[in-house]
Amino acid sequence: MVTTHNLGFPRIGAARELKFALESYWDGSTGENDLSQLAAGLRQEHWQRQTGLDWLPVGDFSLYDQVLDMSFTLGHLPARFAKTEGSSLDRYFRVARGRSAQDTDCQCGAAGELTKWFDTNYHYIVPEFDAHTSFTIDPSRLRQQLAEANARDIKAKPVIIGPITYLWLGKSIDGSNRLDLLPKLLPAYAALLDDMAAQGASWVQIDEPVLVTALDAAWRHAFHLAYHQLQHSNTRLLLATYFGRLQDNLQLACELPVAGLHLDASSAPDEVDRLIDWLPSHKILSLGVVNGRNIWKTDLNSLLERLEPIHARLQDRLWLAPSCSLLHVPVDLDREDKFDPEIKQWMAFATQKLDEIQLLARALNRGRDTVAGQLAENAQAIASRTASPRVNNPAVKSAVAKLAKTAGQRHGDYETRARKQASRLTLPMFPTTTIGSFPQTTTIRQARRHLRQGKIDQADYRSIMRAEISRVIREQASLGLDVMVHGEAERNDMVEYFGEQLDGYTFSQYGWVQSYGSRCVKPPILFGDVGRRHPMTLEWTAYAQSLTDKPVKGMLTGPVTMLNWSFVRDDQPRAETCRQLALAIREEVLDLERIGTKIIQIDEAALREGLPLRKTQWKGYLAWAIESFRIAANGVSDETQIHTHMCYSEFNDIIESIAAMDADVITIETSRSDMALLDAFKEFAYPNQIGPGVYDIHSPNIPTQEQIIHLMQKAAKYLPADRLWINPDCGLKTRRWEEVLPALGNMVEAAKRLRQLTGTNASTVST
Ligand code: GLN
Ligand code: ZN
Repeated sequence: MVTTHNLGFPRIGAARELKFALESYWDGSTGENDLSQLAAGLRQEHWQRQTGLDWLPVGDFSLYDQVLDMSFTLGHLPARFAKTEGSSLDRYFRVARGRSAQDTDCQCGAAGELTKWFDTNYHYIVPEFDAHTSFTIDPSRLRQQLAEANARDIKAKPVIIGPITYLWLGKSIDGSNRLDLLPKLLPAYAALLDDMAAQGASWVQIDEPVLVTALDAAWRHAFHLAYHQLQHSNTRLLLATYFGRLQDNLQLACELPVAGLHLDASSAPDEVDRLIDWLPSHKILSLGVVNGRNIWKTDLNSLLERLEPIHARLQDRLWLAPSCSLLHVPVDLDREDKFDPEIKQWMAFATQKLDEIQLLARALNRGRDTVAGQLAENAQAIASRTASPRVNNPAVKSAVAKLAKTAGQRHGDYETRARKQASRLTLPMFPTTTIGSFPQTTTIRQARRHLRQGKIDQADYRSIMRAEISRVIREQASLGLDVMVHGEAERNDMVEYFGEQLDGYTFSQYGWVQSYGSRCVKPPILFGDVGRRHPMTLEWTAYAQSLTDKPVKGMLTGPVTMLNWSFVRDDQPRAETCRQLALAIREEVLDLERIGTKIIQIDEAALREGLPLRKTQWKGYLAWAIESFRIAANGVSDETQIHTHMCYSEFNDIIESIAAMDADVITIETSRSDMALLDAFKEFAYPNQIGPGVYDIHSPNIPTQEQIIHLMQKAAKYLPADRLWINPDCGLKTRRWEEVLPALGNMVEAAKRLRQLTGTNASTVST
């Protein structure tokens, strides 16, 4: 018999119940009791949704983040929070977000750092280690959730993050080696496992996703050390790896003395056979055959072809599960009632993915004929997707195929372009601009809501947006900004806005996925060939330009960002889908140019996010990602200035690719790092213009003129002053006008003072 299980369920709730409960707890309108009750209720509901599986995950639920939970379970929080007052929940939220619900004016220090969970868009709280870090377990959270499960006769499999991944995810704050902590960490893990065994857990899922990354000898050795020590616990360990192929760690994973191994078989289908050969015969093998990171239905019939011989070989040793925790997909497709039925039948959210697992198990255990109807239905859905004209648009395919090899190349080199652009634009030294969006006011949000609810019509909506644009232009004029923007009032989101106007995209109503804490995103769904039906931004840009003599930038989202922030079709390589997006954006770029737009900015906020987990695969990704950007951007004449924007500044390892994009101007985030991160640009001698951000838009603080001048003088130490722009770190849509006006006012004044001060070299002037 095949055993079924799940690695983790989304915890935010089908209607984002956890988000709203957290936010009302934080703002003081509800108490700790309300929050714990709601959380217990959600766990219930989620187990309910998973009934039918043989083993259900317990401890996968989290009030904020599973890594932070693990830190608490190990009794390991940053020292600055250890002694703070109040309940342990207060402390938990202090680490998570810098303050608890009780703190009016907390002096307890900065929140834990947030960073991306492997190559997903989920963010976790980074554990902080130093040479003196110690661990004292607090199993109360796991005990409580196990007790809830046991009370309901749920076959519970606690889920924890394994010791090696836990150390790997953290950072050392004193330069000590994290691996030196292993001898202190392992007894804590051993005690925790025994505690769970005492609570009746016969299996524990121990997640070690670092096994899909490149590990050096020390980390590999740590694996041996850890699992040889933990094998003496009173519970069976299911070692879970996911998010990629094991590659050179495959043998290591097979050798570790655990009772079972989980492989992400949807990322590593080619490793299954090798794994079966290597795995000692007393171990179970869990195959993650249903992709836990996309929203597509699995082709169950072809999968069964693969699984039947494996089942014949492994028999009871075969377990089936989604590839990874379902944290990365929305809860329930059945809630959606606005999808086109044709497209809806191609999809599966978390609940439906678990149905697939059970269906596979039934087919294997009792024969395909016992589920013939459902298998036929699945085959029909898969066939409909493959054949649908909604997915396959020959016009798009041939337009992409016809793209000239040189489509991604500008006519002139940078120097030539810069000369032509300078004489057309006549900008001062240190030109000032913003990144695109201005505050999204209640008026704007209300207009969008009213349009959706039918309270106003398109014409009303357009005139409200025009009024916003003229306000934004007026404010920029009185501030004296050199290059203006229209403010992006019409955009709820920089990807969704374009997706809505492109063929090949659709949108869920409730498809929320946790990004961090209470923050969720609702990724657009890219299901078919991408085509541009009509211009997407011309009207707004043209209107804005009609109000001023200063240049107004055309504002677009780049192809790589469109791709990386969507649920993307899995029936063709991502590179190909990205090229289609590039062509659609290119058409918009050329239209903008045709109506006289002199500067066009193409944002690639998510370019870095798409980097594969293993560095050896970076080259491949960067090659097609950069080429897509070039196709989108580089069809313009030399006189048209192309800008790009990226919301980060770690460019050291990808600087050559950034330069290869060949944008005339790049704006990046640098204000918080005091420009130190410009190092990469200096070392590499980045050839084009740069706008290093001087205004941290994530903070309500207003930068002073002196601070801005200081930052720019620093920047001028790294880069020639005549190639510098002055701008904020990112868009201003989350800020308020009261903050934005004085901040930009200071920015413009600082630019004027810098121009006065700069006779020759900005880095040598003093204020
Ligand atoms: N142009 C966008 C804005 O200003 C860029 C946003 C981003 O980089 N995330 O809002
Ligand atoms: Zn940004």
